[in-house]
Amino acid sequence: TAYLSDRILNMQESATIAMAKKSRELAAKGIDVINLSFGEPDFQTPQYIKDAAKQALDEGYTFYTPVPGYLDLRQAICDKFQRDNNLTYKPTEIVVSTGAKQSLTNAVLALINPGDEVIIFSPYWVSYAAIVELAEGVAVPIMGSLENDYKVTAAEFAAAITPRTKMVMYSSPCNPTGAVFSREELGAIADVLAQHPGIFALADEIYEYINFTGEHVSLAQFDKVKDQVITVNGFSKGYAMTGWRLGYMAARQEIAAACDKLQGQVTSGTCSIAQRAGLAALQGGRASADEMVTAYHRRRDLVLSLAKDIPGMVTPTPEGAFYVFPNVSAFFGRTTPEGTVINDSGDLALYLLNDAHVSSVGGDSFGAPDCMRFSTAAADEKLAEAFKRIKASLAKLK
Ligand code: PLP
Repeated sequence: TAYLSDRILNMQESATIAMAKKSRELAAKGIDVINLSFGEPDFQTPQYIKDAAKQALDEGYTFYTPVPGYLDLRQAICDKFQRDNNLTYKPTEIVVSTGAKQSLTNAVLALINPGDEVIIFSPYWVSYAAIVELAEGVAVPIMGSLENDYKVTAAEFAAAITPRTKMVMYSSPCNPTGAVFSREELGAIADVLAQHPGIFALADEIYEYINFTGEHVSLAQFDKVKDQVITVNGFSKGYAMTGWRLGYMAARQEIAAACDKLQGQVTSGTCSIAQRAGLAALQGGRASADEMVTAYHRRRDLVLSLAKDIPGMVTPTPEGAFYVFPNVSAFFGRTTPEGTVINDSGDLALYLLNDAHVSSVGGDSFGAPDCMRFSTAAADEKLAEAFKRIKASLAKLK
């Protein structure tokens, strides 16, 4: 495979997808695997959204769509920003894409030149570094401290800025930690950003609706930096629409136009049916999301109490999203009953898959090798059973 491009040869396979593949292989052998590796709601897409998709087909929405998305969908996204985030955008400042993943990639490719540094608040979502490297940028992860629930502070951000810094990216609520930035914390980050008008912020708000604190803050709400912020959001998590591949970004017009241009050469406008469904989703507001959030909140509490009952796991309280991200470094150096030494969280994830039949993801691919990520987007009984098995398997390590 040496003939493959350096771009591909140097790219890491997505760790979450790799782990999901391994657990599917075990399940195919008839083993009862509980899959907590995937970042996916276990809910069906709400019925009213499915109905809109059926209607779209019947109404003949089968043609190419405008590259940045249907105008009425972009208008509905502007209305959503106004209603939920008190942010005013015009449809020309919105680009609809094939998932938030594409929106993030568009923004990075539109702004990053080879050698530009991108500060990534760490632990970070697996794809951030890979996307930056695809653009030949330099990923500069900076790690928040456990004491601060892994949230990077404004001072830590300021200290990481160099003359080559072009962008900063983060998610709040955060995948993998579930941490949520408060108004005060983001305000301080905005103050730093305002001193560097050449630095752009990529704010990934895909978990906006899955927030247990009662307040979601967008960095773009701080007026002085609004032009520097690209806000990414989508339908996968809040509306349980992962398979539909629908996401969007809001940014000043020049950046939106650049993403439109890029997308026009690479994918064109995203799926017509998904866009019509997305329009219906937004028109329905966030009632369906709020129902799911009640379940995610209950499961967070359940998993947290089970995780805290496992000696050696140190688990901060997630305030949003659907993951727990314990520090598991206390288990490194221990030996399995088969005599294998657990050197890192990747080894521990493999051990738990083989011994407890629970799949998870080691923290190194999130920039946090001492941690592990477990999804809490599973039925309560499955979560209870999974953590019972995890506890038993960890107790066997010598
Ligand atoms: N951003 C974060 C932080 C995510 O966790 C995910 C999905 O796991 C995405 C973006 C991608 O979302 P989408 O399905 O809209 O591409």
